[in-house]
Amino acid sequence: MRKLLRPRAFVAADLAVLHPPPPPPTCRVRHAAPPPCSQPRHARPRPNRPTPPTPPTPHPLPHHHRRAYHHRHQPPPPHDPSYRASRLETARPLLTWRAINSPPTYTVIAVAVAGAVIFYFANLETVPVSGRTRFNVYNAESVRKAGEMEYRRLMWELDANGVRVLPEWDPRTRRVKRVMARLVPFSGMAEDDWEVFVVDDGGTANAFVLPGGKVFVFSGILGLARNDSGLATVLGHEIAHNLADHFGERLSQDIGASIVLYSLVILGGVFGLGPLIMHVFGSRFLDVAFGFPMSRLQESEADYIGLMMMAEACYDPSEAVNFWERMGKAAGQEVPEWMSTHPASGNRIKKIQEWLPEAMEKRSQSDCSTTTSFADLFKHALRTGQIIMV
Ligand SMILES: [Zn+2]
Repeated sequence: MRKLLRPRAFVAADLAVLHPPPPPPTCRVRHAAPPPCSQPRHARPRPNRPTPPTPPTPHPLPHHHRRAYHHRHQPPPPHDPSYRASRLETARPLLTWRAINSPPTYTVIAVAVAGAVIFYFANLETVPVSGRTRFNVYNAESVRKAGEMEYRRLMWELDANGVRVLPEWDPRTRRVKRVMARLVPFSGMAEDDWEVFVVDDGGTANAFVLPGGKVFVFSGILGLARNDSGLATVLGHEIAHNLADHFGERLSQDIGASIVLYSLVILGGVFGLGPLIMHVFGSRFLDVAFGFPMSRLQESEADYIGLMMMAEACYDPSEAVNFWERMGKAAGQEVPEWMSTHPASGNRIKKIQEWLPEAMEKRSQSDCSTTTSFADLFKHALRTGQIIMV
């Protein structure tokens, strides 16, 4: 019985015999078989030394932009911002200085410039009355269609803002139509379909004309016009804008300015200056450099043509000076002329005064003595209640 109860030490030794412990960890390199001696020392393989890692090639993108977008079977989503950023950073310019500085490019530029010069000179024309030479690519029909569209837009805008156009029977409308009817025969555009719209807005002293003959007069200007000669100054000026086709000239100038601007942007893009040129030579710069001077020139030209027209229609040209003085006072503080689409009042009056002798001469040559005397007779009859037998 005592032999069966083995002590704990014996049990442990027995287990040790049956399951020997694993050998202590040793380095395999030390116990590896030596290389055959027949090989030279320098040709022996050296499997035990790890090969040095090759340096990684630098990635063109920062780490946070690295994506596997080069995978051919899965196109990247174009709306992914990091994808767009990666494309932008690796993008190359469309035009380079080397591409531009080449004979084919010189040929293209020379042909384009020659074409532009021919196009410019082929579309030069002379402005009636003033005799100024100008560039205009639009014919009368296309300008008239543009005026029709603008007319519909304006009428919709007036209606949407609750602004009323005075009816035909309103005395203010009849007054404007009367002066208009006397001026039109001297405009050289009597066959045009002239229409007058008097806008019921006493707080606005303005008037403008659309191509095709639609004249808009805001009722606020009627008080400043004071008399028919003052009103003839306004209407003669507006008719003159159409006679000189200033609308088409402005549209033509916009085309020229756009060509210059985008040519500069394309050339500037070669040097990475496209956005800067767009910013500096943007619409505001083009307005101040080209648009405003052209507009002031047209306004001055309309003053001159309108003055001659009202003189031929036997209105008093000296009233134009008085009218523009009243307009200047009503306008108050003016912006500097170079920032304005219109000439400064002082300069405007000065020029009209220079033209007055010529206008008076025209008035004296015009065959309007009968009309004037009849108009005077008519006014006298209205005042005194007499009946005139024609
Ligand atoms: Zn004007």
